[in-house]
Amino acid sequence: MNKLDRRKFYIDGDWVDPIEPSNYEVRNPATEESIGTISLGTYDDISLAVQAAKQAFASWSLTSKDTRTELLQNILTVYKKRYDEMAEIISLEVGAPIDMSRKSQAGCGIGHLEGFLAALANLETRWQLGNGDTLIREPIGVCGLITPWNWPVNQMALKVLPALAVGCTCVLKPSEMTPFSALLYAEILHEAGVPKGVFNLVNGEGPVAGASLSRHPDVDMVSFTGSTRAGREVTRDAAETVKKVTLELGGKSPNILFADADLEKAVKRGVFGCFYNSGQSCSAPTRMLVERAIYEQVLEIAKVAGDRQTVGNPAEEGRHIGPVISMLQFDRIQDLINSGISEGAKLLVGGPGKPDGFDRGYYVRPTIFYDANNSMRIAREEIFGPVLTIIPFDDEDDAVRIANDTPYGLAAYVETTDDERAQRVAGKLRAGQVYINGSECGYDSPFGGYKMSGNGREGGLFGLEDFLEIKAVSWP
Ligand code: NAD
Repeated sequence: MNKLDRRKFYIDGDWVDPIEPSNYEVRNPATEESIGTISLGTYDDISLAVQAAKQAFASWSLTSKDTRTELLQNILTVYKKRYDEMAEIISLEVGAPIDMSRKSQAGCGIGHLEGFLAALANLETRWQLGNGDTLIREPIGVCGLITPWNWPVNQMALKVLPALAVGCTCVLKPSEMTPFSALLYAEILHEAGVPKGVFNLVNGEGPVAGASLSRHPDVDMVSFTGSTRAGREVTRDAAETVKKVTLELGGKSPNILFADADLEKAVKRGVFGCFYNSGQSCSAPTRMLVERAIYEQVLEIAKVAGDRQTVGNPAEEGRHIGPVISMLQFDRIQDLINSGISEGAKLLVGGPGKPDGFDRGYYVRPTIFYDANNSMRIAREEIFGPVLTIIPFDDEDDAVRIANDTPYGLAAYVETTDDERAQRVAGKLRAGQVYINGSECGYDSPFGGYKMSGNGREGGLFGLEDFLEIKAVSWP
């Protein structure tokens, strides 16, 4: 494949050069070779994009719901047309196996469009309070959108679409590691007829281009998805201008397996759910909590499942997992695997190093630890690699206690055939989503975290509401 040369930004409906040239090579995580070149933007590039968004807000914020619905429908049509291209570019830059990229990574782009179209149809922005005052919900203004690399289209769609849908304008700063899916997304929006200035894209690194959005006085809101570390910095940078900040951050989600669970299915779901996307999902079930009565049985099933997880070239079809995103991420994962061993957890599957036959590329061995406890680093820190930690528990109270004993609170999983217990436990878990017996939330359900997993909710009606201000109008 020819190397890509995508050094322009998308500002005010046009492809424009950066103010100062600053090239950045994007690497293919499967080969460590360059895929192509982008530019890294600075405060001045961000400022140009923000001014375009500010100017466009004056008219876009006054458009009707019908106009905005029509635009979303156009985006859906163009997105479907360019679907295969999107799946291929995500596979290349994320290292996601092509089948998985076609089905899930690119699929999110359609799912969220349909979810937001349904939500927009039900959105009420004006009503009367009992005291006679009128309540109006209005677009908040210019939004800075900062996204990560692990599910690039998912994260862009969860921010760009609701912003446009409610009448906001925006500047997107995607991850510098996955810019090509974002540039393609910009082409799709352009072809779908997004008016100039309503959507803008500037590539760049977090501490420069990202921080410029957080600090910019003409940005009214920052919607951020990424690590808890960067989320804190965004919050600090935004404080000076007192802008609204919504955060979707990390997780260390518990997967509670009770003795009455449909074991074979539950364990396999847990193992493959943790390894999916090479473990690079914020809501992955990374702590498997197992009732002692079934502990040995679970280990046997998990061993078979873990050994069956193959690793392979993302360009090839199949159900393998690909590499992780970067050398930095590979090293972090190795450090955590080594910490698990030195803190006394036992290896059931995998371990340090690369899988046999993979000298190039950031490939990690799918790894399962058992006999771990919840104070070990492998139970407390987000590993963001294919590493599962199995921890035994005594009874329901103990399970809930361990599940909630984490600084995070993004997702939780419960496996039991006792519906009453499932309800009861779901009620006690401090997490934004609870998945019971392998169920999946719909695209128009809210997604977000408790505690250090963030604030605000993305997707559906709640995702639209995050981009709205509330105004009370009082009449004499
Ligand atoms: P990251 O925090 O390093 O980067 C995320 C984005 O923020 C990138 O665009 C990056 O350039 C930018 N950034 C970095 N530092 C910044 C700063 N100081 N100011 C402004 N922007 C900055 O995270 P990552 O490694 O790209 O993504 C992995 C993390 O994202 C994981 O912790 C994962 O759990 C989290 N994540 C959360 C969700 C969720 O919905 N909760 C979804 C996906 C990923």
